[in-house]
Amino acid sequence: MNTVTRPRILVVGAGFAGVECVRRLERKLSPDEADVTLVTPFAYQLYLPLLPQVASGVLTPQSIAVSLRRSKKYRTRIIPGGAIGVDLKSKVCVIRTITDEIVNEPYDYIVLAPGSITRTFDIPGLTDHAFGMKTLAEAAYIRDHVISQLDLADASQDPVERASRLQFVVVGGGYAGTETAACLQRLTHAAVKRYPRLDPSLIKWHLIDIAPKLMPELGDKLGSSAQEILRRRGIEISLGTSIAKAGPEEVTFTDGRVIPTRTLIWTAGVVASPLIATLGAETVKGRLAVAPEMNLPGDDGVFALGDSAAVPDLAKGDGAMCPPTAQHALRQGRHVADNVIASLRGQVMKPYVHKDLGLVVDLGGTDAVSKPLGIELRGLPAQAVARGYHWSALRTNVAKTRVMTNWLLNAVAGDDFVRTGFQARKAARLKDFEYTDAYLTPEQVRAQVEGSGRPD
Ligand SMILES: Cc1cc2nc3c(=O)[nH]c(=O)nc-3n(C[C@H](O)[C@H](O)[C@H](O)COP(=O)(O)OP(=O)(O)OC[C@H]3O[C@@H](n4cnc5c(N)ncnc54)[C@H](O)[C@@H]3O)c2cc1C
Repeated sequence: MNTVTRPRILVVGAGFAGVECVRRLERKLSPDEADVTLVTPFAYQLYLPLLPQVASGVLTPQSIAVSLRRSKKYRTRIIPGGAIGVDLKSKVCVIRTITDEIVNEPYDYIVLAPGSITRTFDIPGLTDHAFGMKTLAEAAYIRDHVISQLDLADASQDPVERASRLQFVVVGGGYAGTETAACLQRLTHAAVKRYPRLDPSLIKWHLIDIAPKLMPELGDKLGSSAQEILRRRGIEISLGTSIAKAGPEEVTFTDGRVIPTRTLIWTAGVVASPLIATLGAETVKGRLAVAPEMNLPGDDGVFALGDSAAVPDLAKGDGAMCPPTAQHALRQGRHVADNVIASLRGQVMKPYVHKDLGLVVDLGGTDAVSKPLGIELRGLPAQAVARGYHWSALRTNVAKTRVMTNWLLNAVAGDDFVRTGFQARKAARLKDFEYTDAYLTPEQVRAQVEGSGRPD
């Protein structure tokens, strides 16, 4: 019998941060130095920045779902499920597996990288009627939904129903919302040619944001260029505006306008995964407060990073924290692995420092704006930089090949606007896709760890 016990490293979440961390641990640690376990509900790493292109059908869902088991060298044990609570005192992570079993997983080191969920507000009807753009299922669902609106409007004899099915509202003028509105508008613009009975002028896309500018991080000039491109394409942009009320067949804006629509896409920011609240530790705007080394001060062996952690942005200074971007998450993933290893070997951990490389915004076709290293680009050069950046950031050659092939195929053959119907008649609220009601309270976590009851 093998009586040697190795330190157990548990990584939660297989996104940009979690996967980079695991791969580096596998490379740098010998198998007998530590056991590495990854808990993730899905068998892939999702390349989120390309999600709007899945919704618009430029890419297939598989092409941005990067396999976690591509290489025989991968030796991490993968638990298929989601962490629903962490008890820091007894060093146990409570997991709900994909078959709904509750498992207590002990660890010596835990790396928390569960990312974020869609941020919502207390707006009547919002959580029941809005779709998010955070998961592969949501992107595929929205694509089907948008195409079904064209199908239903085409079949309808009722002009009021037709008009409401052909209006679409996207809330959130950050890069996620702007790209989503831009890509989906291209989808309906191209698809309507296959519906000779539909009047294209009835199709209306609204992009709204409570802020006075779209994507303020782009700066004034580039931000205005993005707005100009969208307005030229017929997208109605309303700034300083939000939603007052959402219903199944209409949305009321805060400026009093009532828009008949069956499509409300909500991309107004993100908040840390609800897993973070189960720790009962200090947070900054919901993200776990960590040191620049990404460890939890005062708690040995606890690390957090990516969208779920408030990692100090030392390159910016002034008490800033790193923005929730893939750019930071994947670099933090590599860095945290080095710090876990340093901690394991009794060496000194290093603080995370990364100077932002800029932003790329793909508005579909040849429309784009980018600001790599502070250089402002528009049109084709911006598009080349945006696609080149995402393409090179895809982790495997197979994913790179799939994405490139899809881009080429789409450029040559276009889209067939096929509605798959896979998720038709399924509940489609935010919580149904993001499982936000799966988490335990800190008290339930304690009870589960002490064995005094199975949480409901
Ligand atoms: C539409 C869109 C466009 C974007 N575009 C850009 C862009 O152009 N550039 C950029 O830098 N950033 C972009 N971002 C932001 C970027 O994707 C995130 O900042 C990045 O994904 C954060 O990485 P992460 O590892 O922290 O979280 P994620 O990549 O979200 O990974 C979290 C992982 O944890 C899993 N998980 C969640 N809960 C649990 C749990 N309880 N237990 C176990 N696993 C769990 C999730 O399934 C997921 O696999 C975009 C985001 C969106 C939504």
